[in-house]
Amino acid sequence: MVYRRQYSSRTPVRRSARGMAQLGGGRGMRRRGGFRWQIMLLFAVGAAIYYFMNQETVPLTGRKQLRTMEPAQEMALGLQSYEQILGDSKVVSPNEPVVQAVRQIGERLKRAAAPEDPGFEWAFNVIDSEQANAFALPGGYTAIYTGLIPIAANEDGIAVIMGHEIGHALAHHGAERMAQQNMQRIVGAGVSLGAGGMDMGAQRAVMGVFGGISQYGYALPFSRKHESEADYIGLILVARACYDPREAPLLWERMGANAGATPPEFQSTHPSPDTRVNDFQTWMPEAIAIYNQNCPTKITL
Ligand SMILES: [Zn+2]
Repeated sequence: MVYRRQYSSRTPVRRSARGMAQLGGGRGMRRRGGFRWQIMLLFAVGAAIYYFMNQETVPLTGRKQLRTMEPAQEMALGLQSYEQILGDSKVVSPNEPVVQAVRQIGERLKRAAAPEDPGFEWAFNVIDSEQANAFALPGGYTAIYTGLIPIAANEDGIAVIMGHEIGHALAHHGAERMAQQNMQRIVGAGVSLGAGGMDMGAQRAVMGVFGGISQYGYALPFSRKHESEADYIGLILVARACYDPREAPLLWERMGANAGATPPEFQSTHPSPDTRVNDFQTWMPEAIAIYNQNCPTKITL
């Protein structure tokens, strides 16, 4: 061993030859300290297997999604976060009319979602906060903030917001995001190990590029896709529950007008208001047909 170390460090020609033999090619010296594509490839194959083995179908839209979690796991996870959030917030008393209204709307939407409901334990609460925000956690645990009520403006507006949130839960977006993060971690580990032999600056650059691609090329487009999907599912539920679906584009216009002051997290990853209004126009005939089929009053475009 000692001999070999001395030998190789003294004679760069032989060292290069050894490198060539190891890599089985003529570019041995150049590959030393380069990106190890073989390792990356191994992890990419692993990620691809993970991806194709865990394909599920989103109810109502039929989109294929990456998801590994069972609804029971979603509910356990969602409930845990829900209790934590409610514990840290000022929850409005169930005796307040606003909570009663929100729960009534929630119940109607929940019944409308019955065909696609995997048996979630829906919960509807109101949080006292100036934020114009609302959320649904995996498993159907939803809340709307008092700051959003004036923008919702009426029952139909509240139904549009809650329908959107229920849409996120029904489409299992939280579980999908977690599975996507697992896949990003698998690929990220491959990139990190692949870059392991490079010098620190190069490693940092490679990880930076990977981070950018995985954020802007993967995570963010999905986040906008989720928003648009929740809009669609929400609109269909609103119409099934006999709330006026035509309120949806009006609500998002009000939301856009309000966004200037403090853009809440709820909106930051949402599609642009123009895209949103266009999408609602595309889906509106379907929603109106559902409404007219189910509800005592009739509406037109
Ligand atoms: Zn959303």
